[in-house]
Amino acid sequence: MTLEEKLVLATHNRGKLSEIQALLQDFGVDVVSSADLALPEPDETGRTFRENAAVKAVAAARAAGLPALADDSGLCVQALGGQPGIHSARWAGPHKDFARAMKRVWDALTVQQGGQQGADHRAAFVCCLCLAQPDGTTAFFEGSVHGQIVWPPRGAGGFGYDGFFQPEGSSRTFGEMPAEDKQALSHRTRAFDLLVQNCFGPQTAPHNTA
Ligand code: IMP
Repeated sequence: MTLEEKLVLATHNRGKLSEIQALLQDFGVDVVSSADLALPEPDETGRTFRENAAVKAVAAARAAGLPALADDSGLCVQALGGQPGIHSARWAGPHKDFARAMKRVWDALTVQQGGQQGADHRAAFVCCLCLAQPDGTTAFFEGSVHGQIVWPPRGAGGFGYDGFFQPEGSSRTFGEMPAEDKQALSHRTRAFDLLVQNCFGPQTAPHNTA
């Protein structure tokens, strides 16, 4: 599967949109968002990141008659059995209050671990990208980044749970990093690198070149 020149980004999430636009900017793809086209947001009825990415990409590709790229992603906390996972957006409630969502995750972990010393704060961000064609053909690309959640959250950058997540090997949360530092490490970039290898041939994505 290859990318046509025009691509719909099937997301209404501004944080994801700007990160994917930055990743695509060096590839000469003309990007339009599903919000720009006033496409409705389909219900995420899947049980996995992959199923939800497909729901969003296929709906947008069929409606627009163009290839569409969707991202389904979330924060998976090890000691919570992978929650909030595919429900990461829902844990923020109807007003998309991520301060509340992070507190909810932290409280669930505290209750579960009873404030023990050496509590397990391991977590991973996971991203599944689905590229769909108007005929319903799909291709999937998945990436993850491991790290730990921190309390209180730190940093005002990024979006969603960024201030709550410190990737392995870094002393900063994603929220404390400039966008390009997050981009060098993120689950979305890792998934996107696989898309690039598949759709643009065996070259290295520009953000990975020195
Ligand atoms: P969905 O993929 O639309 O179901 O939403 C995924 C949710 O996971 C987002 O609304 C964010 O809250 C969270 N999420 C996904 N990727 C990131 C990220 O890179 N940083 C922070 N939060 C993220």
